[in-house]
Amino acid sequence: MVEPLKNAPRRSLPKLSELPPFPAPSAIPEQSPPFQIPSSLEDLKSALLQPLDNNMGLAVTPVWPDGARSAHPYSGGEKAGHARIQHLVSSGAMSHYKDTRNEMLGEDFSTKLSAWLALGCITARHIHEYLVAFEQGSTPLGRGAPGYGKGENRGTAAVRFELLWRDYMRLCTRKFGPRLFDIGGFRGDRSYPWSYPDRNPEIRAILERFLEGRTGTGLIDASQRELFLTGYTSNRARQNVASYIAKHLGIDWRIGAEWYEALLIDYDVSSNWGNWQYTSGVGNDPRGEARVFNPVKQAHDYDPKGEYIKAWVPELRAFDEPDQIFQAWKIPEHKRVELGLEDIEWVNKPLKRIEYRAGGGRGGFSGRGRGGGGGRDRGKGKRGGKGRGKGRGMEEEFRELSLGH
Ligand SMILES: Cc1cc2nc3c(=O)[nH]c(=O)nc-3n(C[C@H](O)[C@H](O)[C@H](O)COP(=O)(O)OP(=O)(O)OC[C@H]3O[C@@H](n4cnc5c(N)ncnc54)[C@H](O)[C@@H]3O)c2cc1C
Repeated sequence: MVEPLKNAPRRSLPKLSELPPFPAPSAIPEQSPPFQIPSSLEDLKSALLQPLDNNMGLAVTPVWPDGARSAHPYSGGEKAGHARIQHLVSSGAMSHYKDTRNEMLGEDFSTKLSAWLALGCITARHIHEYLVAFEQGSTPLGRGAPGYGKGENRGTAAVRFELLWRDYMRLCTRKFGPRLFDIGGFRGDRSYPWSYPDRNPEIRAILERFLEGRTGTGLIDASQRELFLTGYTSNRARQNVASYIAKHLGIDWRIGAEWYEALLIDYDVSSNWGNWQYTSGVGNDPRGEARVFNPVKQAHDYDPKGEYIKAWVPELRAFDEPDQIFQAWKIPEHKRVELGLEDIEWVNKPLKRIEYRAGGGRGGFSGRGRGGGGGRDRGKGKRGGKGRGKGRGMEEEFRELSLGH
């Protein structure tokens, strides 16, 4: 797609009269352990049915907290998809999108069009056409909403921009093919010393707690529980979760990608695996391994009162102190006892004590460094941020990519 975006894409394509052929069996890539391609029908069936198991293989499954609501209450089909776009245009949510897109709680902070897009109920071109009509004021939809008839605005431009990311992820799949699933990613970098749960029971136990949302880091736990219960979690939360398992715990990033594949209501092969690669440092992120999200700093930035965390981790609802919500290990002993939290493993022993001093600037935590041993607590202590934290989103990185930096 070329600039200017507004005029470039074609109109929505006509309906296909026939489907494209199946890919050739030779197109199925080899997998490196612990992943295996089933060799019998029985193995295939059991692999395919595994995600339908209610517990997803977990010993402790998250329970729906009182009052929590899905951010993406999805009902399928083309009509519902169009109704959602119409709602976003007429409510003004499209025009406000740029300012709200990094929030984590509620239905309209971002478009929540992903599931309809992923399942083919609507297309990016449909969204574009609605936006053009709104920007030109050529239909009544959105009359009264900010920006009606006034051309492209910050919000509508940002929605198009995100849809470009979606296109870009498809382009990468097209270009790199099976490397989408390769441990070395698009970079073909197999030098990271990843940890594997099937080879080490300690790593297995760590992974289980991560999947169950019992790490002790509030933002990660809220997101993991939300994902398990609703099939959705925000883009901000996804980036933090992926960075946590890959860069803080040093566990094979493909395990996280597969978990998302099994649970996401908007699962999309290119967007999921491409974003996992990006965040894990083996994909097309120009900063690669240097980008390590500090989930405590991110919670301070994007969930300053801990409302999102408290919605999904009800054990923390009694607390007002952000530090104690974001880092439960900071809850004083007497309060643990008073509130009956004294025996909770993730309160007493977080998987990793990620530090951050609010107001004290960046840093204060260690991430994975190349050759640093990979596993948790074995990083080389790279400092995250480099002053490029919150203010520097994917937008800038995309510019870098476009400019070939
Ligand atoms: C680790 C990880 C895994 C992800 N897995 C998926 C996935 O399986 N399916 C999926 O659709 N998105 C995935 N994303 C991208 C993004 O998180 C979701 O598209 C977004 O959260 C969906 O909510 P929304 O529709 O409200 O997004 P909005 O913020 O409203 O964005 C509008 C649309 O733009 C597209 N989009 C936005 N961000 C991205 C992105 N980073 N990459 C590609 N497309 C994007 C989506 O189609 C989205 O619906 C993943 C991101 C990460 C970090």
